Amino acid sequence: MIEQYGWSDPLAAAFAPHARAGHTPGRIVLQQRDGYLVVTGAGEVRAKASGRLLHEAKELGHPAVGDWVALSQNPHERTATIHAILPRRTAFVRRAAHSTRGLQIIAANIDVAFIVTSMNADLNPRRIQRYLAAAWQSGARPVVVLTKSDLSDDPQAVADELAAQIAALETGCPVLLVSAREGVGLEALLSEVKPGETCVLIGSSGVGKSTLVNAFLNEDRMATQAIRESDDQGRHTTSHRELIRLPGGGMIVDTPGIREVGLIDADEGVSAAFDDIENLPQNCKFSDCSHANEPGCAVRAALEGGTLDPDRWAHFQKLKLELAAADEKADRLAKDVERRRLAGLQKHYRATKRNDRGSRD
Ligand code: GDP
Ligand code: ZN
Repeated sequence: MIEQYGWSDPLAAAFAPHARAGHTPGRIVLQQRDGYLVVTGAGEVRAKASGRLLHEAKELGHPAVGDWVALSQNPHERTATIHAILPRRTAFVRRAAHSTRGLQIIAANIDVAFIVTSMNADLNPRRIQRYLAAAWQSGARPVVVLTKSDLSDDPQAVADELAAQIAALETGCPVLLVSAREGVGLEALLSEVKPGETCVLIGSSGVGKSTLVNAFLNEDRMATQAIRESDDQGRHTTSHRELIRLPGGGMIVDTPGIREVGLIDADEGVSAAFDDIENLPQNCKFSDCSHANEPGCAVRAALEGGTLDPDRWAHFQKLKLELAAADEKADRLAKDVERRRLAGLQKHYRATKRNDRGSRD
């Protein structure tokens, strides 16, 4: 059973000390307010984190959907206790709001992050860059997905343009084209998730993520969630899971939290609140006007003419600077992660070469 959830030799090796302690392995498929649902070799169990684990959680974060954990079954109840979290290969992390301590793990052990954007939305490379940075930061490999290809006369041209822009970020990744409505491109998407691997869909609201999940599962998930089954004590439990197996042997984690990862989209907020100011510089005489003392500056004219509030202008400039800094940081981060990834690959390559030589001797 756990093999179908991605259990592997490296995981078994990492689990060895826990096995000696008499614990069993499992993977979290649902996080609820009062505990977890964990899939184990003997089926699904409800579980709670041990007091000690919660104490340690300050550094590690609490167990999250996708985590592999070490469990003990409580003898007289149908619940289990989570004693440890196996080292995470990857993790989507959010800093706990208004607090310097503590990380919040949104999802763990995600292999592929589909960054979903739609054909009819404005292609916003900067936003995609933010999502890319979030994916790279997590350790998952990003794949950009352009949805609703049925809405475009020349979807391939749009995809090519986007692919070129992403390549220009020096951190290229595949760009795939899909239409859930016409059933186009779904198989190519699924084939990015190898058996035992786990993916997520991230992207703004309305780009077609739910529709894609439903298409993957070939059913209406809302309907699935409404189906209630009774467990053997006669209680009703919903069949809702946040980690779901896909056709083809992969899995998907779908939670509201993961969908919005990286979407503190300040950029959009600024544009919405200041769109009048954003357009002002188009009327400046020089396209690179700094609005300081150039002749023909539309911004200064508006300030002097009283149509632009100086405080608002100052606030807008400050936000722009913060955004630029955030962008630069995201960019550095992406490069940093890529460098580490390459270094890891080189190390792995050298180790394999050594082993090869070793086996020939
Ligand atoms: P989410 O917010 O990202 O989960 O987006 P939804 O899956 O709810 O989709 C938003 C809207 O886009 C819905 O009205 C869908 O019917 C529509 N939509 C989704 N996929 C496609 C597609 O492939 N083609 C077209 N034309 N519309 C789509
Ligand atoms: Zn100007």
